[in-house]
Amino acid sequence: MNREEKLPGWLNGLLELKFDEKCERHERMPNNVKNIYCLHCCVNFCDKCADTHDSHRILQVP
Ligand SMILES: [Zn+2]
Ligand SMILES: [Zn+2]
Repeated sequence: MNREEKLPGWLNGLLELKFDEKCERHERMPNNVKNIYCLHCCVNFCDKCADTHDSHRILQVP
């Protein structure tokens, strides 16, 4: 059995990000933790930045 599965690129990038970081653009706002990831741009961002990625495929980290 081969347990080595290749992760897709976006997932690799995802695993290296910190989802408890605060958004530098919305430093003063509540709920500014960057817990949303855009599969299109390969970046994570906060709730308030989500508008920018409106038409993109995003993934929310609980
Ligand atoms: Zn933000
Ligand atoms: Zn995006």
